[in-house]
Amino acid sequence: MVPQALDTDILILGAGGAGLFAALHAHKAAPELSITVAVKGLLGKCGCTRMVQGGYNVALAKEDSVERHFMDTIEGGKWLPDQELAWQLVTLAVERVRELENELGCFFDRNPDGTVHQKAFAGQTFDRTVHKGDLTGIEIMNRLAEQVWARRINRLEEHRAVELIKSTDGSAIAGVLFIDMRTGDYVFVRAKAVLLATGGGPTMYRYHTPSGDKSCDGLAMALRAGLALRDMEMVQFHPTGLLAGAHTRMTGTVLEEGLRGSGGFLLGGNKERFMPAYDPKAERATRDLVSRAMFSEIRKGNTTPHGGLYISMAHLGPERVRKEFKGMVERCADCGFDLAGGLVEVVPTAHYMMGGVEFAADCTTTLRGLFVAGEDSGGVHGANRLGGNGVANSTVFGAVAGDRMAAWVRAHGAFAPPHVGKVEEAIAHCERPLSAPRGDLEAIRERLHDTMWERVGIIRDGPGLTRALAELDMLDAELEHTGIGASARAFNLSWHDWLNLKSLVGVSRVIARAAAARQDSRGAHYRDDFPDTGALDTSAYTSIRAEGEVAMKPVAFTRVRPGQSLLKHAA
Ligand SMILES: Cc1cc2nc3c(=O)[nH]c(=O)nc-3n(C[C@H](O)[C@H](O)[C@H](O)COP(=O)(O)OP(=O)(O)OC[C@H]3O[C@@H](n4cnc5c(N)ncnc54)[C@H](O)[C@@H]3O)c2cc1C
Repeated sequence: MVPQALDTDILILGAGGAGLFAALHAHKAAPELSITVAVKGLLGKCGCTRMVQGGYNVALAKEDSVERHFMDTIEGGKWLPDQELAWQLVTLAVERVRELENELGCFFDRNPDGTVHQKAFAGQTFDRTVHKGDLTGIEIMNRLAEQVWARRINRLEEHRAVELIKSTDGSAIAGVLFIDMRTGDYVFVRAKAVLLATGGGPTMYRYHTPSGDKSCDGLAMALRAGLALRDMEMVQFHPTGLLAGAHTRMTGTVLEEGLRGSGGFLLGGNKERFMPAYDPKAERATRDLVSRAMFSEIRKGNTTPHGGLYISMAHLGPERVRKEFKGMVERCADCGFDLAGGLVEVVPTAHYMMGGVEFAADCTTTLRGLFVAGEDSGGVHGANRLGGNGVANSTVFGAVAGDRMAAWVRAHGAFAPPHVGKVEEAIAHCERPLSAPRGDLEAIRERLHDTMWERVGIIRDGPGLTRALAELDMLDAELEHTGIGASARAFNLSWHDWLNLKSLVGVSRVIARAAAARQDSRGAHYRDDFPDTGALDTSAYTSIRAEGEVAMKPVAFTRVRPGQSLLKHAA
């Protein structure tokens, strides 16, 4: 099958905060270049940046500082973050928020004196989360999309990237192979520089928060292209996912952290609080601790009708709850729960991947011409991401990537000859489910969800991880022989489901392998058989490729060492 061919100077995969910031910055820096944003969904309407509720961390207040934001990020990440990346995050977040307000037209909530309102978020020593009510992501994405539409930036919507294609000698990126989901045709886009910004997305877990278009495609493509990923064992679970039964996609969606922050109680199936027995901060402990305690209660069988736990807010006064958490009250009501006066069933839910492609502070990767930004990248957050640092990460590094790609293409850009054999191989692989005997994709998905939730989730151990790897190998082999039956190619959701599962199983394997290699417990990664955190001074991160051993690489403490602080009063 011969793909249609297109050329562009800069190709951006993904249209979240990272992809759209990259497009705007590249266009501003080099308006003469052709820039194309290719996205699996509709530009502005898909991905997780749009789903951001809480807000954006940035040190704006006089009493706050980038050093304090940096220390919170490093300590929250349990000393695993790459310190240069974290420094870039906290310093450039200030510029990006000003750009969002003053150039792109976002209106964030304000104090009566006109300053930007910043609210409290867990794990921070200062209230620095900028927000627009509890719909911050919609404000950011609407304004970004409008600005992209207003410029000469090409769009390939409903185009799914399926393979990064290298040059014939393998030394550089030559372009990307896509399926045009509207027709089912293949499209090969040649590019001088490519940005990977498909946003990770741990949707391989039974309960998860990210948007349905995210299936770790970018990470799976990076692995196939031979790139190293870091910190892949670090998957963040949010404690309060809504649990409304298997029949609804509302299950797994987030009930915001503020519910616990303002005094909400978590109850077992026996309707009694259990958190005080796990941590002195009880429900206000950090996400990892609360999720772990909840998982333990679930394992003990102290569960609700759907197999989860309850959140109870009624003791705070139903009127207050209705006023302060209007959106959450409505979301629960849609699923038949009364958040203000009754009990709501909840379960920890896979939320964010701290791991991703290893990259430098200028967003370059080890493959010439390939850049990465946002949730596809690894190293900014280490073992834990602070709430509010996710959208800061995607916008900050998206902008860096846009600036850098523009300069890079001007200085070095040339189309590299694509490895045609690899294009053909990738097409042949994508075609496989269209000819293989029809099988049950839903059953494979459920087994993947079970394996990842039970054995590679919130509490892990060696034997469980070994078993998980064997199960994942089996699922991968089964998928190869599972077809979707002969059917039309246009908008064929079963076909894309197969491709989603392929990416998810491949990336699940590296999560399990990294989790097996890390024999300590840190941040989001907890091993029942290695419950202690190793020495911070000799902290090492996992680095993994599609094949071969997992490498443990020492963290470079380039700005501050464990036990020290950048804050003057703490020195
Ligand atoms: C419910 C929820 C609430 C959140 N709240 C907060 C918060 O309050 N504060 C915070 O800081 N962070 C929050 N986050 C995290 C935050 O959303 C992410 O960190 C950030 O938005 C990721 O941005 P991104 O650009 O990397 O990816 P996304 O915004 O997810 O964009 C990824 C893009 O890639 C596209 N794509 C995927 N696969 C392909 C493919 N194969 N080909 C082409 N395109 C592809 C997608 O369609 C999408 O357009 C939240 C996340 C969720 C799910």
